[in-house]
This record gives sequence, structure tokens and C-alpha cells, in this order.
Amino acid sequence: MYPDDLGQLRQPRNHHGRRASDQLYRHDESCTGGGAGMKPTDAELIRAAFKARSFAYTPYSHFKVGAALLAKNGMVYTGCNIENAGYTPTNCAERTALFKAVSEGVTEFTDIAIVGSLDGKKNTLVTGPCGVCRQALYEFCGPRLRVLMAKSEDDYIETTLGDLLPYGFGPTNLEIEPGAD
Ligand SMILES: [Zn+2]
Repeated sequence: MYPDDLGQLRQPRNHHGRRASDQLYRHDESCTGGGAGMKPTDAELIRAAFKARSFAYTPYSHFKVGAALLAKNGMVYTGCNIENAGYTPTNCAERTALFKAVSEGVTEFTDIAIVGSLDGKKNTLVTGPCGVCRQALYEFCGPRLRVLMAKSEDDYIETTLGDLLPYGFGPTNLEIEPGAD
């Protein structure tokens, strides 16, 4: 997304200044989630994304991204971007998280938190998912997925995948249930 677009999105659904309780946070213990059953708060999900970002492998762009994908069963799957000397094999944080989950048999999701910034710098813009990740997420999540694009735990834009990928092409176009095998 371009900065101007992000500015427009920031107006109606800006969570700047909101301070969410973090005392219930229990989803930062591993890359494969902190346990089923309890829905994490937005702040908890964003914090998990920040932790995942710390593992980003970015020797070329130095732009580190973290994502935390909340499954319907309460598990959180995290991912970071992983670059490659061949450039093309580079994988985004969102797809790392998604593919981790799907590879473990989890295909239903409700929320994703995304954070990104240049290494050693603080976020000045939110980081939206790239077009490829929007399409990859749409396959399993459809338009209702909540997307939290965060600068910090209490400064983030809440939107949906449907807003980010209007008229998205997905399994239903082929008369298949999302996530069906
Ligand atoms: Zn991407």
C-alpha cells in the first residue's frame, strides 16, 4: 500500500491511544501458539507478531516483518519474512505463519496481526500485507479475516481482508468451501 492509502484507512478505524490489558497474554511462548481455547486480545496478538519479527531473516532489505495468525481454535501461528540470495524464494511473514498452520492441519482463522519496519527503526507507517499474501490468506480466510496492521500494541489499524482484497478470487468462485481438500 502507498502511504496515502494507509492514511485514509487510518482515519475511521484507528486504535491510537487505546491501551489494551496485557495481563492475559499467554501466546508468546512459541512459534506454534500458546494454547487453544482462549482468544488473545489484539495487544497480545500484536505482541506475538513483534516477537516473530525478531526472527526475520533480512540480510538484503533489512525490512523486518512479523505476523501472528489467530486460528479459530485459539492457537496463534507466527511467522517472519525470510529472504534469500536468489530473491525470488523470499517468503513473507504472513505466508510463513499461514503455511505453518496449514501444514499442521489448521485451516480456519479469524485474525492476523502484522508489524514491520526497517531493522533498528521504529514504525512510522503500518505495514500491510503484500498482494501475494492477501491472495494466499484469502484462500483460507475469506473476506472476513480481521487484519491488524500495527505500529505498536496500542497504535494499529483494524481492517478486513475483504477491504484489502475487494472482490477477491477464492475457492467459492470454483464452488469449493474455503480450506476444503
Ligand atoms: Zn507478502
